[in-house]
Amino acid sequence: MGVLTKILTRSHPLASGKCSPAPQSMKPMRRTDGVIPMVYSYTQISQYLRCPRSYRYRYLDGWREKETRAAMAFGRCFENALGAYFREEDCSAALFNEWEAYRDTPFEFKKGETWDRLLHQGVHLLQRFAQDDRVRINNPCKDLQVKFLQTLTGGSEFVAYLDAIGEIDGVRCLIDWKTTTSRYPDGPEGLLSLDPQLICYSWITGIPEVALVVFVRKHAPEIQYLRATISEEQRQEFGRLVETTANQIEAGHFNSHSGIRFPQNGCVSCCHLGLCLNNEQLIAAKLIRKPGASDLDWLDDLVD
Ligand code: SF4
Repeated sequence: MGVLTKILTRSHPLASGKCSPAPQSMKPMRRTDGVIPMVYSYTQISQYLRCPRSYRYRYLDGWREKETRAAMAFGRCFENALGAYFREEDCSAALFNEWEAYRDTPFEFKKGETWDRLLHQGVHLLQRFAQDDRVRINNPCKDLQVKFLQTLTGGSEFVAYLDAIGEIDGVRCLIDWKTTTSRYPDGPEGLLSLDPQLICYSWITGIPEVALVVFVRKHAPEIQYLRATISEEQRQEFGRLVETTANQIEAGHFNSHSGIRFPQNGCVSCCHLGLCLNNEQLIAAKLIRKPGASDLDWLDDLVD
């Protein structure tokens, strides 16, 4: 298996107390034998494609976004409760127990949201999901959080954890759960087949049928069951995209690519904005630097 040695991982100047613009590029990374395997995930590839500079801050320099949003933590708790549902355990109790761990966490809640309200919405959605009874997972121990690994041409690996493989309305498909406060667009027809994360999962599993089950947290809870078919051509194209992106990363290309264009300014929602602007206040508010980032332990910590 190929391995990678990072030969230059510069901390952001602010980490050492100096303020100067971030460097535009880095020296290429070199592969050597027997050290650390290079492992990619969908999150890494999509972050690189969104902005290579942001990728470098996150995965090479170790700057992670602080978990300040209640919705993100709640989404994880809810997915664990879904696992309990399929194992025929008390899923409402499971949700309470998971979410209880965050009761005193000083999260940012959206307007009108509270810890209790999120729990209430979650329980309603679980009840609605059980009433709908449209999803089957035959073997919850095996078919939830399923790990897939693909070796890339240069010896690096790509890993993905699928939320579930099961059936929706009798059709076998891979399934991704989403919790959100607004409905996903369900038109024009075929729109979901362009979703890059679903294409990625179809590529790594070879399963053409894909689905999003969207749990919409709103006053009257709603669940969307959205299905699509991914073509062989799309899977092959995504495979090529992964290969070329991995090559770019390993060649050390980390130019900023913010995609700024009114009104979609990607920098505004980027957690690394403080680093690009040398704004210490923003860095302290949004980021935490992982200890030991320079030891490449970021490679072990993949977020999917
Ligand atoms: S703030 Fe903009 S330029 Fe800087 S890392 Fe984020 S997206 Fe890229």
